[in-house]
Amino acid sequence: MEYLTVSAAQRCVLDAVNAPDVETVGIERCLGRVLACDVTANRDHPPYDVSAMDGFAVQSRDLGGAALTVVEDIKAGDMPTKILAPGQCARIMTGAPVPQGADAVVRVEDTQTLADNSVQIDVVVKSGHDIRPRGETMRSGDIVLNAGAEITPGVIGMLAMVKCATLQVYRRPRVAILSTGDELEGMNDPFDPNKIPDANSYALMAQVQSLGIEPVLLGIARDDPDDVLLVSGGTSVGVHDYVRPTIEALGVKMLFWRVAMKPGHPMAFGVGDDTLVFGLPGNPVSSMVCFEQFVVPALRRMMGFSRCHRRTLQARLASPHKRRPGRTEFVRVKLSRDELGYVANVTGTQSSGVLLSMAHADGLLVMATDTGALAAGIDVTVQLLDGTAFQLETGYKE
Ligand code: AMP
Ligand code: MG
Repeated sequence: MEYLTVSAAQRCVLDAVNAPDVETVGIERCLGRVLACDVTANRDHPPYDVSAMDGFAVQSRDLGGAALTVVEDIKAGDMPTKILAPGQCARIMTGAPVPQGADAVVRVEDTQTLADNSVQIDVVVKSGHDIRPRGETMRSGDIVLNAGAEITPGVIGMLAMVKCATLQVYRRPRVAILSTGDELEGMNDPFDPNKIPDANSYALMAQVQSLGIEPVLLGIARDDPDDVLLVSGGTSVGVHDYVRPTIEALGVKMLFWRVAMKPGHPMAFGVGDDTLVFGLPGNPVSSMVCFEQFVVPALRRMMGFSRCHRRTLQARLASPHKRRPGRTEFVRVKLSRDELGYVANVTGTQSSGVLLSMAHADGLLVMATDTGALAAGIDVTVQLLDGTAFQLETGYKE
């Protein structure tokens, strides 16, 4: 089988994702989810014309002349009891309803209160000044949020504004994580200096958690398919690498197992009845890099997001980086900033076995297939490894 390009492999994965399922959740628990239905306003907000300032409600044509008589005090929550006649005004607080007869508000800073319950106003304002009209935020019947909206704190505020105590969101996928290899030592196994601690289960667990999903750790080699199964190790063509045949025997159809990337191949992907199976490489760095390129977009798509890829930004490379062209390469970098913008610093040795290169990284510098050695100071694309903001496209050239 040919080596797939990174983008062809991503397309294959995203094409295998089914339409997301919907569930109902409380407003307290929906941050970071995706709205599965349109949300409609059930009232006008504000419900009447309100003052935008603490000050005086006036008839604008009265301004520029004699002092005005204050006929009442209106606080937020009060209803006015008087209709303003010429020469009259009302003291009014922010958010309080503007009385009939008034067509503008003058802020308190532009007025002087006189002894005889009257107020001298030294400014002239136009009709409508400092009044927030009825329905300025929303009108009853308006669609205020569309299905597909990412639920941010601002969206939660709007949901509360329309008194949505529960709402429909896309369900989070169930994700299970499995490590394979006779050399592996589980977290609770006795210490054996000749074994390799199972780092992948925990690194992948955290990558899944960073997307708002709580995965199940299956430990070392047991199988229990879910919406998504992440298997690490054993996917290459070594004689002891049995994961691929085992997965195929479970009725999972393998769609690819080679991607032209570094680190990262062998990287396998298959679909079962209701399960997507990712065969991630055993090397911890490779496994994590493949997770970011293929599993992140798939899980985000399953949760109903349209922006499925990690954010990228442009940075300058701090020091030269050697490499051989031929595959898309993901170099682990730490970002700093100077007066010209972001600077990308390669995090030490880039061998795919050295997990510290990942532990110290903020992002992955992406080098296109045909890029040769990079000189210091050159402009590079860096995919961030963390954050809650995502983008529609990968943002890098392969
Ligand atoms: P494999 O893909 O199984 O050939 O593994 C490639 C390398 O990654 C080997 O050196 C393995 O020991 C190592 N490896 C595989 N799985 C894990 C794991 N869960 N945690 C840490 N290292 C692993
Ligand atoms: Mg192995």
